[in-house]
Amino acid sequence: ALAVPDKQVESVCPYCGVGCQLTYNVKDNRILFVEGRNGPANQGRLCVKGRYGFDYAHHPQRLTRPLVRRADAPPKSGDFAMDPERVSDVFREASWEEALALAGGKLAAIRDAHGPRALAGFGSAKGSNEEAYLFQKLVRTGFGSNNVDHCTRLCHASSVAALLEGIGSGAVSNPVKDVMKAEVVVLIGANPAVNHPVAATWIKNAVKQGTKLIVCDPRRSDLSRIAHRFLQFQPDTDVALLNAMMHVIVTEGLVDRNFIASRTIGYEELAANVAEFSPEAMAPICGIEADTIRAVARQYAASRASMILWGMGISQHVHGTDNARCLIALALMTGQIGRPGTGLHPLRGQNNVQGASDAGLIPMMYPDYQRVAEPAAKARFESAWGLSPGTLDDKPGLTVVEVMDAAKSGEVKGMYIMGENPAMSDPDANHARAALASLEHLVVQDIFLTETAYLADVILPASAFPEKTGSFTNTDRMVQIGRQALEPPGEARQELWIIQQMAQRLGLDWQYGGAADVFAEMRQVMPSIAGITWERLEREHAVTYPCLAEGDPGTPVVFTEDFPRESGRARFVPADIIPADERPDAEYPQVLITGRQLEHWHTGSMTRRTAVLDALEPDPVALVHPLDLAALGGKPGDVVTIASRRGQVSLYARADESSPRGAVFVPFCYYEAAINKLTNPALDPFGKIPEFKYCAIKLTLG
Ligand code: SF4
Repeated sequence: ALAVPDKQVESVCPYCGVGCQLTYNVKDNRILFVEGRNGPANQGRLCVKGRYGFDYAHHPQRLTRPLVRRADAPPKSGDFAMDPERVSDVFREASWEEALALAGGKLAAIRDAHGPRALAGFGSAKGSNEEAYLFQKLVRTGFGSNNVDHCTRLCHASSVAALLEGIGSGAVSNPVKDVMKAEVVVLIGANPAVNHPVAATWIKNAVKQGTKLIVCDPRRSDLSRIAHRFLQFQPDTDVALLNAMMHVIVTEGLVDRNFIASRTIGYEELAANVAEFSPEAMAPICGIEADTIRAVARQYAASRASMILWGMGISQHVHGTDNARCLIALALMTGQIGRPGTGLHPLRGQNNVQGASDAGLIPMMYPDYQRVAEPAAKARFESAWGLSPGTLDDKPGLTVVEVMDAAKSGEVKGMYIMGENPAMSDPDANHARAALASLEHLVVQDIFLTETAYLADVILPASAFPEKTGSFTNTDRMVQIGRQALEPPGEARQELWIIQQMAQRLGLDWQYGGAADVFAEMRQVMPSIAGITWERLEREHAVTYPCLAEGDPGTPVVFTEDFPRESGRARFVPADIIPADERPDAEYPQVLITGRQLEHWHTGSMTRRTAVLDALEPDPVALVHPLDLAALGGKPGDVVTIASRRGQVSLYARADESSPRGAVFVPFCYYEAAINKLTNPALDPFGKIPEFKYCAIKLTLG
């Protein structure tokens, strides 16, 4: 007989930034099935991950007791092969008291012996706002430095750098659903049908009712098939294409002079910069005909309302900030921002990457993007957190990749990692693993023995998404509640409890009752959410910030009157062409593009442990153009080896005409073929984001 749920719990999806609301149907502490709810971002819709990606919470490999590395364990090595059968050779079970004393005690000893900057912490964009807030507060006040970061550094750090610099806010200007109000939508470097599937449904609906969709991408995506125009430009030539579009808009007088005069600064410099980027000069570089560039530029500029959405195809380059600067300049010079159906929307990846960044889980800013180097902001947080003046560090901390370099060099000696898996997600993963292995002390808090946890000294068993309550902020700046539906298994504990226990061992006396308690403190130090009470979240289910006072309905569309910069005006920032850090050559003639696939989420630790999603995509695959595969003498299903200067992996080839010839696409979720062993750690100088979207490789059969 079919099981009947004994309770229904309203929550949100744990995966992407769309923030679909859902209902967990639960019986006997197990989720039976999931249904979509009528939330503002999804109106009942769910994609395959949201609907079927829940049973990882019940997986037999869940960590249920604290683990401590055995005294006689084999030496830590970055070059490991994990064998779940032999975990007991490496780790032994411990009580919480022993594990916490060891974890906190060792980190405190490193801090006291080598100073606060010898420690670093990575939080998680999968955790709640409250967890992110407490974690960054722990690092800033317990460790004593700003060495705290999370995976935003790997996805939209360059977009945020450009947005903060140009328009004063790193968040989106308009919600995804504004595509329904747009006459023209430019989608560039993003594949929402795979990575934000419910957002893609709104784009499809908009196209059906007449919106002109212009897709710009080196890879052909599902949405390109319904696009009014598809510009399959050459990988790494974003600035050439976008500057050529701006050249057309400037030289043909399609700019919005009133908007430029009243709301921006720096236009003349920008206009002078794009003078040399004519479509005719850029066409051979970006591979798009000059007439097409002209037509797209005219359409974007002249429409009643044009909106730009982008993804990591824009951000994950050494010129990611320049790419985003160009998109911002396009919107500003045409006045396509500050109204419904216009604006700039960098599609957020993880379900709470927006909220975790807002909550201060970044090394250069306190909550609400208040800069650590600004004396007034530092004084505000010292006062709010009850610290003596001069306590907080005013030096921005290290970013994700910088922390790994500092660990390898011995500058950082101890780390606390909550819910992130840098052994899989960092570029040049062999280097990252070696760096983690070289730490004097590594504490990992997670729900599975991830590739990162395998290198830990102490592992703290945490709670899965449905086992706790917290608030989450989606890509639209919408704050929503994820509610507890299950009890954690065994001795696994909720993150807010674990963080506070760690805080105690580092000399802090915190007494937060739960998520509502932490959120109440966040409202005091984060003006953007000051008007959102926990009771209101429970009642309304979703409130969009900025929400400055109770009674404020929230603000889905921002920049309607001014920009949150000192002058109130947005700033144009010109960009020139900077090539990828590593170009193909005779030895490594092809290009590697990494990303995600529909069925799996990031490093795969959750979705590869769900029955349906794992059955749909069980094995690592490389997407290769069929002509490139044939040229090797191979066919779909053959094993291929991909090598870069940093490592190599072997996996199955899948023929895929959407990839341009000479480019290979590989998802980064497969530990058996951890593709980030190959990626280039070269950083964008502003956002400090690595170049995941381009490195030189060699593809061989076998
Ligand atoms: Fe979850 Fe994103 Fe899918 Fe919605 S679109 S169900 S938030 S993964």
